[in-house]
Amino acid sequence: MDVVSSLPLVFNAPARGKPPLHFADLDEAGRIAAAEKLGLPKFRANQLAKQYFARLNADATEMTDLPAAIREEVGEALFPTLMTPIRHVATDSGTTRKTLWRLHDGTLLESVLMRYPERNTLCISSQAGCGMACPFCATGQGGLDRNLSTAEIVDQVRAAARALRDGDLGEPGRLSNIVFMGMGEPLANYKRVVDAVRKITSPEPNGFGISARSVTVSTVGLAPAIRRLADEGIPVTLAVSLHTPDDELRDTLVPVNNRWPVAEVLEAARYYADTTGRRVSIEYALIRDVNDQPWRADLLGAKLRKALGQMVHVNLIPLNPTPGSQWDASPKDVEREFVRRVQEQGVSCTVRDTRGQEIAAACGQLAAEEG
Ligand code: SF4
Repeated sequence: MDVVSSLPLVFNAPARGKPPLHFADLDEAGRIAAAEKLGLPKFRANQLAKQYFARLNADATEMTDLPAAIREEVGEALFPTLMTPIRHVATDSGTTRKTLWRLHDGTLLESVLMRYPERNTLCISSQAGCGMACPFCATGQGGLDRNLSTAEIVDQVRAAARALRDGDLGEPGRLSNIVFMGMGEPLANYKRVVDAVRKITSPEPNGFGISARSVTVSTVGLAPAIRRLADEGIPVTLAVSLHTPDDELRDTLVPVNNRWPVAEVLEAARYYADTTGRRVSIEYALIRDVNDQPWRADLLGAKLRKALGQMVHVNLIPLNPTPGSQWDASPKDVEREFVRRVQEQGVSCTVRDTRGQEIAAACGQLAAEEG
């Protein structure tokens, strides 16, 4: 049974606002069939794929290798406008840029592009809003609006790759890394996310040719979906947002823990590591006086060592304050002690550099507000 449809109702997005079918929703056979439907020979499907995935072009009027007479028809049938940028906000001297998009049905969505000396990372959204209701997260407060379509996920990547190529963020560059850490729980929109990952990682012209190792899919721990992802044969990095090693607190911090408790999540993570050979990332937002106690660091280290051995790395995330929230980041000395204790258990652990904090673009801050 489909993992997503087996989830409680709260995890199923309402079926409203269905986005128009787009070229990026289709696989190779679908693209050929769509071209044929327009009376175009098979080679045109390949040409369109090159335009979209290699030249990063989604505007048929710019596709100069297509006969001028058919560009408009191709545009209307296969390249409807999926997202319109409403606002770009930059910070970190212009190296971090958050974009607010409006989708065809008015749904708002955000993605964040971060330039580093050695890589360019795009943080993308997989759902509009999120139904997981983590109390410390801005996105979770608004609930789930709807699932994004494959093309709505993929087109965030195309737009960012194009912006980088065209030098919109300084020196022209190439998009190298994708993290599914924006709005939404990626594994609750399983089929579309996996389809999008295949398009992100397939070589041109069937995809953007970004290495699977450079793609991170994060989850709050939907254990059956983690196992299913392990069996897909695309060795992306799995990031599990654990946030605490004990069920008692996790039941409130990450409500889905009531369904799949810590032990089950770690078992699924082990299966992922064994099947893909990839080390699993454990995300841990350190919250003052909530989950930052020394005994929790010891317990986290011990549980991870037992479950995953060397196949795990802990990313501590200093909590990003959200407006009006009572949650706060831990003091630096508490953070250092936490790291030391986890490492003492033989588990690798570092503090993540949190980019974009001042533009509310860091993890758990994507609330897509228009104001
Ligand atoms: S932390 Fe992630 S899973 Fe939890 S509510 Fe926020 S976006 Fe959803």
